[in-house]
Amino acid sequence: MLTFADIWSTLQYDAPVFYFDNCSKNSPHMDFFGKDEQQALNNGTYDPTHEYDHSTVGVYLPDSDIFDYYCNCPDADKERHIKLMEDVSGNKDPVTNLAVYTVLHEYGHWYAWKKSGLSAFDYYSQSIDAKMKHDEAVKQYEESSGRIGSQAEISELYRKIPMESQAEAFVKDNAKNAMELVQKYNRNMKDFYKNIIHIGSI
Ligand SMILES: [Zn+2]
Repeated sequence: MLTFADIWSTLQYDAPVFYFDNCSKNSPHMDFFGKDEQQALNNGTYDPTHEYDHSTVGVYLPDSDIFDYYCNCPDADKERHIKLMEDVSGNKDPVTNLAVYTVLHEYGHWYAWKKSGLSAFDYYSQSIDAKMKHDEAVKQYEESSGRIGSQAEISELYRKIPMESQAEAFVKDNAKNAMELVQKYNRNMKDFYKNIIHIGSI
């Protein structure tokens, strides 16, 4: 059994991380803004001089086993993510590929933001127009039960969102190394349990 928390601690990434337990209500993501701050942005009362609570800013991952996630959690681009990981890392197990992709992509958001040196507001603003175009296409697609536009167009619009392509670049740059670390962790855990069983049987 391998969890998202196992992968996160193996990779030793420096972002705050939070775990959620219901995949039907939540999906992996990164919060750039605090809860009140996000609400203020949504309802147009955002005040850049106000000090918002940032204790919830960070990466959000499922509190689950990676196999449960693979079987039970929706991910529209699942096959694409798995293929990308397979191509870059050489690993052929879809369950681990999807989980490591997910962690790399969400941390990739944090990494690209920090590397930019910008405030969350300024960083996020660079992507807002492209993100709105994408979200609108998704809305139309869903409302028309897929009759208008196509998944391919939506994927293309998604890749034009600057912060998404930056997170994807992080995935590609780090997939091989991250996969090696996760596989090493897996092997060590298997040896550990083998030894426990061995000692237990003496
Ligand atoms: Zn993303």
